[in-house]
Amino acid sequence: ALADEPGNPAHAIFERFLRAGECREVLGCFVELCQQLGLQGTGLQLYHGLKAALNYWNAKALWSKLDKKAGHKDYDQGTACAGTKCLVVGAGPCGLRAAIELALLGARVVLLEKRDSFSRNNVLHLWPFTIHDLRALGAKKFYGRFCTGTLDHISIRQLQLILLKVALLLGVEVHINVRFEGLVPPAGKAGGWQAVLQPSSSPLTQYEFDVLISAGGGKFVPEGFKRKETRGKLAIGITTNFINRHSRAEVEVAEISGVARIYNQKFFQNLYNKTGIDLENIVYYKDDTHYFVMTAKKQSLLEKGVILQDKADIESLLSPKNVNRDALLSYAKEAANFSTNYCLPELEFALNHQDLPDVDVFDFTCMTRSENAALVREHNGSRLLLGLVGDCLVEPFWPLGTGVARGFLAAFDAAWMVRRWAAGTPPLEVLAERESIYQHLSQTSPDNTNKNISQYSIDPATRYPNINLQAIKASQVRDLYLVGTVEVDHKRRSDNRLSMAAPGAVCEELLSWCQASTAGYPGVAVTNFSTSWTSGLALCALIHHFRPDLVDFDSVDPQDPVQIHQAMLDIAEQELGIQPVLSSAEMATMTGPDHLDLITYLSHFYQVFSTSPE
Ligand code: FAD
Repeated sequence: ALADEPGNPAHAIFERFLRAGECREVLGCFVELCQQLGLQGTGLQLYHGLKAALNYWNAKALWSKLDKKAGHKDYDQGTACAGTKCLVVGAGPCGLRAAIELALLGARVVLLEKRDSFSRNNVLHLWPFTIHDLRALGAKKFYGRFCTGTLDHISIRQLQLILLKVALLLGVEVHINVRFEGLVPPAGKAGGWQAVLQPSSSPLTQYEFDVLISAGGGKFVPEGFKRKETRGKLAIGITTNFINRHSRAEVEVAEISGVARIYNQKFFQNLYNKTGIDLENIVYYKDDTHYFVMTAKKQSLLEKGVILQDKADIESLLSPKNVNRDALLSYAKEAANFSTNYCLPELEFALNHQDLPDVDVFDFTCMTRSENAALVREHNGSRLLLGLVGDCLVEPFWPLGTGVARGFLAAFDAAWMVRRWAAGTPPLEVLAERESIYQHLSQTSPDNTNKNISQYSIDPATRYPNINLQAIKASQVRDLYLVGTVEVDHKRRSDNRLSMAAPGAVCEELLSWCQASTAGYPGVAVTNFSTSWTSGLALCALIHHFRPDLVDFDSVDPQDPVQIHQAMLDIAEQELGIQPVLSSAEMATMTGPDHLDLITYLSHFYQVFSTSPE
């Protein structure tokens, strides 16, 4: 009753919580709120406590959104995972998003974050389903400007703030300044799995859990997962942020969205002629900051003195001592100015977490992904389910902004897996199903996921069209079940999930599909997965058959197979989201029997094209 009174101190704290703009401030307000209301519990119990105590209009509007979400049948009214204890590593967008689902399922959720601030200004592209999803979590209550009008992006830090608040309200226990360092297997029959943490004095070292969700970003993957590096063509990304004063002049400048950019050759030619800056693409979003991400050509970075010395190895090429910061700042600023027609007045760099101008250069030549999405460990009779979500599962290519969209899909998939686990599904079945779903992730785009985004839930069938949850069989994932403290060095498994499912038949099916799709193209005769492809024409024909808008088959120069391959690899990556598996030179020189890597690569086209109407 107290909470209904105007001037109620709990309301004021709650309003501050809703608006808080720093990670620590959010956590501080939340502790204060719980103290003020005398609430102690965790999980959904805490949520219900808050709801009962705060029933004035603004709070009620949020509860009704969250109640609607929580009422989904997948959660069994918050009992689907009651009794499951989860540890989530990382308060990036994906760790937080996964934690929210686990909380809605009724699990106990402890989330660890090694840092104590959210400092990334960079702006993420959101697919329509993520916008819908965040709205349903009440995003606008926390951040009024969330995706207003046609905006389809948000800064990483704002996204983290929104999700952190939702997670707290749903009873997720969030701990900052705690780093996860590894697992402690159960000591005896009665014990459970625990974590090695830094600081080691953290009381959380005592926490026993049966599910670990790792969402530590691109650099952190727990032991046992094997990573696979995909080497594409050289790609140097530059990101930069400028202060947004929200002036009229700034409001009027048009954004450059991630879609229509790459084929505007004239723009890039002009940019090069006038400034010496040579880009493959550029994206500009207006958010808390003016944010730009571009892919720059190495030669122009050398010519403009950004990179001091040419080096074959990309790591040394972009090492801080080989990059002239001042030249980098000018390069980024000039590109930003040119691409907005010099209409953004007085561009002034926003500052990063080190209080330096927010400009960075990144290497996207090699991107890693995990071979598997989950593992089970068993020791002394106690099982632990481990799942990856976000960048540690699949690293995104920022200029395409796939990170959060695929990250959220993986967070839902992981929650679905935990639900199956909690329901007592045999571990190998849980793992096989998770891998069956994972093989779709790298190919997902807004076009080939279900259109009915309002129906999306953690159930994969609501999101992926025609998904076969049994594409991979329990017998094929035995090496993902680790007993004892054995260290993991599972044999390199073929990445070709299609052929793993039913080796011979699927290859045959893929071959006849390739033959049918390339029939009639001059110079193309597909009879195998090796030499038939070296000229590059077969791949060109395959893409042209389904997407004549992307390549002009008649104008390719058959004399230069490496160049054809490079062009096709780029188009496939940028337009179809298919990551290269072999380099253009490797593609052009294949000999001998069928190449597994080529089969893998082509199977991705099969997945993309065979679901889209011709
Ligand atoms: P992250 O957002 O990386 O979050 C991981 C979290 O885990 C971090 O907070 C980290 O501190 C924490 N963590 C890591 N290890 C541990 C540990 N051992 N214990 C506890 N906590 C741990 N994408 C774009 O589309 N455009 C961009 O411009 C862009 N810029 C980026 C700039 C930077 C510096 C980084 C790191 C990423 C950027 N990304 C960008 C990628 C994008 O942020 C991610 O795709 C997205 O945030 C989803 O990532 P995530 O939640 O999986 O991981």
